Amino acid sequence: MSTALPANPLEAPLTTLRGVGSERAAQLVRLKLHNVGDLLLHRPRRHEDRRRFRAVVDLRSGEAAVVRGKIIALGLKRWRGGSKSVFEFILDDGTARLHCRWWNLPFMEKYFQQGDEVLAYGRPVSLKPRAMDHPETEIVEAGEENFIHLNRIVPVYPLTEGLPQRWLRSLIWRTLEEHEAHIPEPRPEITAHAAAATFRLRGQSPAHGSQAGTCGCGPFPARAGAIRLLHFPGEMADVEIARQRLALDEFLELQLEIQRRRKKLQASARGLPCAGDNRLIKPFLKQLGFTLTGAQTRVLREIRRDLGGAQPMRRLLQGDVGSGKTVIGACAALMTLESGFNVALMAPTEILAYQHFQTFSRWLGPLGIDVQLRTGGRKTLQVASRVSRLFIGTHALLESGFSPENLGLAVIDEQHKFGVAQREKLVRKGRYPHLLVMTATPIPRTLGLTLYGDLDISVIDELPAGRGRIQTFVRSAEKLPRVLEFVRGKLKEGRQAYVVYPRVEETDNQALKAVTKEWERLQREFTPFQAGLLHGRLKPEEKERVMAGFRAGRIQVLVATSVVEVGVDVPNATVMLIENAERFGLAQLHQLRGRIGRGAHRSYCILVADVKSDEARERLKVLEETNDGFRIAEEDLKLRGPGELLGREQSGLPPFRFGDLARDRELVECARGLAAEALKNT
Ligand code: ADP
Ligand code: MG
Repeated sequence: MSTALPANPLEAPLTTLRGVGSERAAQLVRLKLHNVGDLLLHRPRRHEDRRRFRAVVDLRSGEAAVVRGKIIALGLKRWRGGSKSVFEFILDDGTARLHCRWWNLPFMEKYFQQGDEVLAYGRPVSLKPRAMDHPETEIVEAGEENFIHLNRIVPVYPLTEGLPQRWLRSLIWRTLEEHEAHIPEPRPEITAHAAAATFRLRGQSPAHGSQAGTCGCGPFPARAGAIRLLHFPGEMADVEIARQRLALDEFLELQLEIQRRRKKLQASARGLPCAGDNRLIKPFLKQLGFTLTGAQTRVLREIRRDLGGAQPMRRLLQGDVGSGKTVIGACAALMTLESGFNVALMAPTEILAYQHFQTFSRWLGPLGIDVQLRTGGRKTLQVASRVSRLFIGTHALLESGFSPENLGLAVIDEQHKFGVAQREKLVRKGRYPHLLVMTATPIPRTLGLTLYGDLDISVIDELPAGRGRIQTFVRSAEKLPRVLEFVRGKLKEGRQAYVVYPRVEETDNQALKAVTKEWERLQREFTPFQAGLLHGRLKPEEKERVMAGFRAGRIQVLVATSVVEVGVDVPNATVMLIENAERFGLAQLHQLRGRIGRGAHRSYCILVADVKSDEARERLKVLEETNDGFRIAEEDLKLRGPGELLGREQSGLPPFRFGDLARDRELVECARGLAAEALKNT
């Protein structure tokens, strides 16, 4: 045997396995498989039931099936001077013949010989003659290993060039045989309630363990058993059971980490006394021009309790677009400032940071607060220099050059645009300051528990009164002239409009040029009204100039990329026209729609979309039907998964190999409970 294995056999490099040389190991690395443990978790792409094969004569058009037969003829045809080709063999299983064809892949020829016994998986493209294009194939080799590849449900793995399916399957089989006993059961919690239910590993010997567990979701097999089922299930249904068990382990690991972090904070940090004395808040609320909603008042009470509490606040403020989170942030800041501490507020875009800078300067400047702006584009913009300070900025606040003294509170607006690491980085600018994160993305509960499991949650579930209704329409591209006519009508009434091209990458020069062209076109179209152009690549001063013009009503139409997605607040703007709406997530469209309906006038969101498929139309219909951000987010999570819902910037989410946030809500809840239980007495 090999020498000096690591203490944990699962961490042994793959070259310690029989039959794995440096060349194979290099191929496996391309699949991100580095050690024995990785290999055992290599997730099959699908499974194939090879206990019964479909008779070729029974193949149905378009229906995937596996057949088994002998190659009775084969050949390669070339034409167009050899640039086009088709390689074909004819498979006979005694019931009928099947043509298996590969187009323009002439090298396939060298893999097959007449007389080979072959398994072919694919969808017949025709029945006269019976034919499959580019089926997945495996040659049945005479040998003792056939019990791995035949007469059972077999795994089909993702591969990389040069790596044969059959070889990898054998390797995983052998590795399981050798190492299954080394797979630890990391979660006795899961199997602790074993008495209640038993899970039988169908078709497996009891030696593989038949521990069971329940936690509302299970019963689940022990981890080692689950890993075996993942590869070699007794029944197709076992694959999902195995996936769930392994997903639960992933969620549990994350929950343990989140809850440990929380506990540690509670044990080691004392909350700074930041509840304030009303000295600033009172006059602030008085001059605000509106009264807080019931929901806002309730949330403020929760925040005040936290700010005066024994431990640092860790709170997520969730509220649909337009629900009035900014003013809550301002109140929390004021309490902290009253207490003699400084505050930092971070926003994801320069435009939003600048808007906050203006709002807060207007609100807090008269109260003697020093408000400062820090963004990448410019270092500091100062209003006045007095004692208590509010720093507002973008990611620039995370740079090492920014080190505020006496930080009492960190506020993050549009938290979903930042990752957990960035959140932590801002907090570390002080000595356990309080933290308030705000988000308008209504995060479905599964995601909330996963991303924000360490935060307390406050919800503003009420919009301020007197808001005009928002109506949403989906229109096809050829209706655009009529849509523009409608927009013009609104401009004549004195309202303003956004025209958004959301999916423009700020790095895509070509697309930026197109938007610039559109802007010029719309400028002509809407004369004598003014159209302004806004995108992320403009200089900060230019962005500020355009936004200021729009806010002041000098610019009536704002042609923009999705930079206006978050936070922008101009109540007189009542039209949101979104082009290419079909290419966006529902949650993102909802965010964009949140830019309107902020004043007393009726507002209109028009989604211009190329909806060819019914599915795309159905999807956008959800927006026509509801303004409920939670419903929209759940829908988006189902349709597009968490990455799209949260945006690509979201780096706080660990990559799950087995967990699926769109479906695994119960497992996440279960993991949360198990983690709490496990940490109860620590
Ligand atoms: P969001 O929650 O999307 O961040 P904002 O904080 O931008 O929402 O608030 C939207 C608009 O509503 C702002 O113009 C804000 O001043 C106003 N607003 C906030 N709270 C109230 C309230 N209680 N009554 C009336 N208007 C309010
Ligand atoms: Mg906001």
